[in-house]
Amino acid sequence: MRRQLAHRQARKSLVEFGLRLLESGLLQDGQGNLSLYLPEAGVIAITPSALPYRQRQAEDICLIDIEGRLVEGRWKPTSEMPLHLAFYRERGDVRAVIHTHAPYATIFSISGAAELPMTLTEAVMHLGAPVPVAPYARPGTAKLAAVTCQAIGEGCAVIMAHHGLVTVGGNLNAAFHATLAVEDTARAVLLARGMGVEPRTLPPEEARALYELYQRNYRPQTADG
Ligand SMILES: [Zn+2]
Repeated sequence: MRRQLAHRQARKSLVEFGLRLLESGLLQDGQGNLSLYLPEAGVIAITPSALPYRQRQAEDICLIDIEGRLVEGRWKPTSEMPLHLAFYRERGDVRAVIHTHAPYATIFSISGAAELPMTLTEAVMHLGAPVPVAPYARPGTAKLAAVTCQAIGEGCAVIMAHHGLVTVGGNLNAAFHATLAVEDTARAVLLARGMGVEPRTLPPEEARALYELYQRNYRPQTADG
């Protein structure tokens, strides 16, 4: 019974965070995907492919196991399922994964830059360090999962060349704020460059200090785990 409740809560959280991302302009309808891992139940709640965000009910969210087998659900899981599974397998600290085509982060993904620099205090509190850009690989492939997972290292965000953004966290709220932080930074950097100005970056030690201060005192927490 408790397990059923946990499943239901995880599915509801995915519906809610999908809407928050949509309303914040961080994803477009029919694009992007989210998941939440419940290790004690051995289950991952993950969004279905091609179902508009506003039409989603809790029961539309798929439940899969760590091998990607469908445990419960009436839809096919997102085609980026291998990407989500790779993060849960490789990173013991990750409980939530959000993939979006956030507009400015996606424009940055075609810039050829190796990383998104840290320029804004608010964003660096969530990110801690420059966001790497993973090399190009085709969407939905094991190769994309591998190169993206490798590029993120111990960080909480990675931009995928020619594609979009992935953020991870200990809960959906942390991954949501990381998405927002990358998008704000990408917008600031791109607009500055559009004005012919090369943005100044925060010194790495200051970025680290701000991140640690924030994580110690204000780390985003929610009931979703
Ligand atoms: Zn995508």
